[in-house]
Amino acid sequence: MPDGGVTRKIGDCTLSLVQGDITQQKVDAIVNAANSRLIGGGGVDGAIRRAGGPAIEEECARIRAERGGCPTGTAVITTGGNLPARRVIHAVGPVWEGGKKGEPDLLASAYRASLTLAAQHRIRTIAFPSISTGVYGYPVAQAARLALRTVVNALRELSFDEVRFVLFSDADFKTYAEALREILSEAGSIKV
Ligand code: ADP
Repeated sequence: MPDGGVTRKIGDCTLSLVQGDITQQKVDAIVNAANSRLIGGGGVDGAIRRAGGPAIEEECARIRAERGGCPTGTAVITTGGNLPARRVIHAVGPVWEGGKKGEPDLLASAYRASLTLAAQHRIRTIAFPSISTGVYGYPVAQAARLALRTVVNALRELSFDEVRFVLFSDADFKTYAEALREILSEAGSIKV
C-alpha cells in the first residue's frame, strides 16, 4: 500500500484508505464509477479511460452491443488496457435524488456487485474510488459509511488480500478515515 494511508485488518484482508489517483494503483483491478450506458464521462471515468487507452472503450462497446449497458447497482468487467491494473470493474452507482429513491441500496449493490465480480475473476487486490460522490452528488459522509460497511460485510463471504479505497481529495480521505473509525468501533468491530 502507498505511504500515508490508513490500514486495518478485517479477517485475512487488508482494508486500506489512501489519498491519490486510482489510475496509478498497482492492484489486480480498479473500479470505475461508470454510467449505465458505459459511455465515457468525466471525473474518475475520464481519467481511467485516458490512462487505460482505447482497449477499455472497445470492450465497453461490445458490452453495450450485447446487453445495452450496465444498470444502476450492477457492474461489468473489462481489460485495464495500459493501466498498471489488469482489469477495470465498471460499477454504476445511483444519482443522489435526496435519499428516498433507493440510493443507499443501489450504492451498496454497486459495491457488492464489484466485489462479487472480482472474486469470480480471481482478483486478489482491488481499489475503489468514492462511487457516486462526484457528479452524482451522493453526500460523501453517508456514502463513506455505506461503502465501508458494505465492504466489511462482504469480506465475511469473499476473500481478498487487499481492498483499497483511493480518495482523490484530502477532504474525502479524512471523511473515509473517520467513517472507518466509527464503523470499527461499533459493537466489537464487525457488527455492521
Ligand atoms: P460519480 O458520477 O459516480 O459521482 P465522479 O467521477 O464524478 O463519479 O466522482 C467520483 C469520485 O471520484 C469523486 O470523489 C472524484 O473526486 C473522484 N475522482 C476523480 N478522479 C479520480 C482519480 N483519478 N482517482 C480517484 N478518484 C477520482
